[in-house]
Amino acid sequence: MATFERFDAHVREHAREYVDELKELIRLPTVSAQGRAVDETGAAVLARAKRAGVAAEALRADGGPPTIVGETGAGKRTLLVYDHYDVQPPDPEGEWTTPPFEPTERGGVLYGRGVSDNKGNLMARLQAIEAYRATIGELPLRVRVLYEGEEEIGSEHLASFVKRHADRLRADGCIWEAGYKDAAGRPTVSLGLKGIAYFELRVRGAKQDVHSSQATIIPNPAWRLVWALATLKDESDRITVDGLMDHVRRPTAADRALIEKLPLDEEGTKRIHGIAGFVRGLTGTELKLKHFFEPTCTVCGLTSGYAGPGSKTVLPAVASAKLDFRLVPDLEPDLVARLLRAHLDRRGFADVEIIPMHGERPSRWPADSDAAKAAVAACRATYGTEPVVYPLMVGSGPMAQVCDELRIPVVGFGAGNAASANHAPNENILLADYIDHIRAFGRFLHTFAGLRLD
Ligand SMILES: [Zn+2]
Repeated sequence: MATFERFDAHVREHAREYVDELKELIRLPTVSAQGRAVDETGAAVLARAKRAGVAAEALRADGGPPTIVGETGAGKRTLLVYDHYDVQPPDPEGEWTTPPFEPTERGGVLYGRGVSDNKGNLMARLQAIEAYRATIGELPLRVRVLYEGEEEIGSEHLASFVKRHADRLRADGCIWEAGYKDAAGRPTVSLGLKGIAYFELRVRGAKQDVHSSQATIIPNPAWRLVWALATLKDESDRITVDGLMDHVRRPTAADRALIEKLPLDEEGTKRIHGIAGFVRGLTGTELKLKHFFEPTCTVCGLTSGYAGPGSKTVLPAVASAKLDFRLVPDLEPDLVARLLRAHLDRRGFADVEIIPMHGERPSRWPADSDAAKAAVAACRATYGTEPVVYPLMVGSGPMAQVCDELRIPVVGFGAGNAASANHAPNENILLADYIDHIRAFGRFLHTFAGLRLD
C-alpha cells in the first residue's frame, strides 16, 4: 500500500476518537479576555503534546499565561508549528444555537467556540504527528511547537518570549495557526498577514459642554477633529498622510501573477454587503491589487456631543475618533504613528492628541519558499485540486513577532471554511475538513522534509 494510503486509512479509523478529543479541548472555556480556564487549558495542551511525543514544557513570561514550547523528531529540516489555545469570548451567547462550550455535531458540522480559531488546527496537527508515526515511521524532520494563550488579546508577551527563547524556536519554515477553504470550497494557502495600527484621536475644547450659541467665539473640538480627519484621505480613497504611501512596497510581477489567479466574487461581495460598487469604482485585477497590497485608513468610530433622539443644542467639550490602519510591508505601527503626528503638526493640528491602542507589523513571505511549495503540494495531494494561494491575508496577527524576528518563511492552511464564523456565534468547522487537515498536515510534514508524496 502506498505510504499515505496507510496513513489515510489510520486517520479514517480513528476519526471518531480524534473528533472526541477535540471536543474535550473545546469544553474548556479558554476566554483569555476574561482570564477563564487559561492555566487549565495550558496544562491540558501540554499533556496532549507530550502524549504525541513532543518533549514540551510550559513557560510563563512575566505574568502572562503559560506558553508551551517543545520539539519532536529529527532530520535536516525543522518546522515550527504556531498555534494558540485561547479563544474569543462567546458573546452574544444567546445567538448560539447550542452552547459555545458544549461542542455539538449537526449535519456533519461541529459547532463550538475555538473549533476553527484555533483549537481545531492545534489538535489536528498533533494527531497528524501521531498518525504519521503509527503508519509511516519516525518523523523525517524536527518539529517544534509554540502554543500561546493570549493571541486573542494581542499576544502581549510573545515578542519578548520569542527573543528570549529564539534558540528553541528557530526553524526552516513555519505553519501558522489559521487556514480556510474559500466560499467556493477551494483549499487556500496563505503567505502572510497585514499588520495593524490602531489609534484614538482626541480633541478637547472648553472644559465642559457649552450652550451652542457660544459657537461664535468658542472653538468646537468636533469640527477640529473632522478637519484633521479630512486631511488623512482624499475623496478617491487615497491615503494622504505625508510620506505614508512611500513606504508601501509595490507588488512585483510574481505578486501580480498570484493576484491574477485569485478568485474574488465581485457580484456576491456586493450583494452580501448591500453596496452598489467598490471604492474608487475598481474592478478586476486593480480591485484585488488594492485589497491585498494597499494599506487602509479607516474611521472605525466617531464620538462627540449629543447623538440621542431629538435635538440638543450643545457645543461639545471633547471629540474623539477611533482610527485603524491595516498595514502592508514596509509600514509598521511606530512609523505610522510618527508620520501621523508629523502630518497633523505640519497642518496646525498639534491639539489633536494621538493615543496608540494596538499595533502589529505586517508579515509577508515569498511563494517559492520550501514551506510554501510543501504546503501547495500537500494540499494538492490531499484535496485533489490546486489550492488558491493568497500572498497575504487581509487580517492581522502576531506573525511578524515570530517569523520576521526569526526569519522563518511562513505558510497557513487549516481546517476552517469561509463560513466558520470565527469570533462570532455558532463558530464551526466541517468534520470532513477537520479530518482532511490531519491528512494535509501529515503530507506537509513529509514533503517539507524533502520526501516525495505518493
Ligand atoms: Zn481569533
